[in-house]
Amino acid sequence: MKLERYSMGVGDRFGCEGEAQLAAFEEARRRGVEVVPVWNKSNREHKTVGTQPESVRREADEAVRVRGWQYGYYVDADHIALDTVDPYIPHSDFFTIDVAAFIGKPADPDAVRAFADSQNGRVGAVQIDGIPQPLEVTAERITQIGETFLLAVQEAGKIYRHIAEQKGAENCIIEVSMDETDKPQTPVDMLFILAAIAEEGIPIQTIAPKFTGRFNKGVDYVGDVVQFGQEFEQDLAVIAYAVQEFGLPPNLKLSVHSGSDKFSIYEPIRKAVRNSGAGLHLKTAGTTWLEELIGLALAGTEGLELAKLVYARALERFDELTAPYANVIDIDQTRLPGASTVNGWSGEQFAAALRHVPNHPEFNLHIRQLLHVGYKVAAEMGAEYLNALRGNSGVIGENVTANILDRHLLRVFG
Ligand SMILES: [Zn+2]
Repeated sequence: MKLERYSMGVGDRFGCEGEAQLAAFEEARRRGVEVVPVWNKSNREHKTVGTQPESVRREADEAVRVRGWQYGYYVDADHIALDTVDPYIPHSDFFTIDVAAFIGKPADPDAVRAFADSQNGRVGAVQIDGIPQPLEVTAERITQIGETFLLAVQEAGKIYRHIAEQKGAENCIIEVSMDETDKPQTPVDMLFILAAIAEEGIPIQTIAPKFTGRFNKGVDYVGDVVQFGQEFEQDLAVIAYAVQEFGLPPNLKLSVHSGSDKFSIYEPIRKAVRNSGAGLHLKTAGTTWLEELIGLALAGTEGLELAKLVYARALERFDELTAPYANVIDIDQTRLPGASTVNGWSGEQFAAALRHVPNHPEFNLHIRQLLHVGYKVAAEMGAEYLNALRGNSGVIGENVTANILDRHLLRVFG
C-alpha cells in the first residue's frame, strides 16, 4: 500500500460527520487540490467516547460508499503501542506507531555501539541538497542520538513486525510518531533516527517528529514561525536525502500532528512542500467536534441549549477535563466567561466565540481550548447528544465541510 503524496488526517469523535468531511475533500479536488482522507481516532479518544476501532472503519467505508468517492482513503490506528494495537489490526490500514515513551530510555549499549559504528562514515560535514550549510556530525553526536532514540526505534520495529505478521506488510501504511515528547528533534536527530529506522527494517511512509514551538489543541501555533519554517524545510531535505542514502520508501514524508488550526505556519509549510516537491500528511482531529457545537448553536433553540450545557459542564469539570491534555493547551481561566454569561448569548455569539477566526473580536481561544478537550461531557450525554447531531445534521455538516475545506485543505495544500 502506497500513501498518496498529500493526505490529511480527519478525526470524528462521535462518528457522525464522515460524509461532511469527505465532501470537503471532493470540493478541494474539484478545485484541483488532490488530497486523500485518513480517518484517525486515538486509543484515548476511543476510551473517552466509549467506541471501538471497528466504528471508524464502518464510518469511513460508509461515507465513501454514499458519496461515491473514487480515490484513496485510509483508517488510522492513531498513537498505538504494542499493548493497544491488537483491536485495531483488522480494521485499520494506517498505523501511527507511537514510541515517544521510549525516547531517552537506554538501549542495549552494544546495540548503540553497533549503530554508531554503522554510521561512522558520516562523521564530518554532511552536505544535503536544500540545506545551505553542511550538517556538522561528530561521532559523539551519533552515539548520543543512538542513546536517546535507538530503544524507541527498536520498539517501533517490534510493533511494526507484530502488525505485519498479522496483516501482511503490503497491506499497511506505517507511520512512526515521536511528537508527544518535550524536546523537539533537530534535522540532525531526524537524519540518524531515519538511519536507525532503516536499519531496523521498518518501511515507514510517514514520520511525525516533534517540531519546535507549541502545538496547542485546536488553536494557532505558538512559537517562532521563521525558525519553524527553516527547520521544516531542513527536515524535508533530510528526508529526501535519507530516502536515497538509506533506501527508505521513496514516498516517505513528514506528518504534522496536532495539525489542525495552525494557521500561521500553513503558509511556510505550503511553500516548503511546493518548492521541494515533497509530500505531506497533516493530522487534524478535534477540530470537527467543535464544528458540531458551532452547528448546534447556530441551529438555535434546543441545539443552542445543548451547546451551552456542554460549556457549563465543561467549566465545572475544568481540572478533570484539562488534566490529560495539560501539555498541549494554554488556557487562562480568568478569560473563561461564567456559565450564566454564556447562557445569555445568541447562537451567533456562541458560534463567533468558538469559531476559529483569530482576528474576530468575539473569538475566545480559551473557550475554544476548553471545549476542544471537553468532548467527554458530550460523550456522557449519550443519545441526547447524538440525536441532536442527527436532528441538525444540515447546519452542522455545512460548518464541518467549510472548516475542513476553507481553513485547512485549501490553505495547506492549495
Ligand atoms: Zn500525535
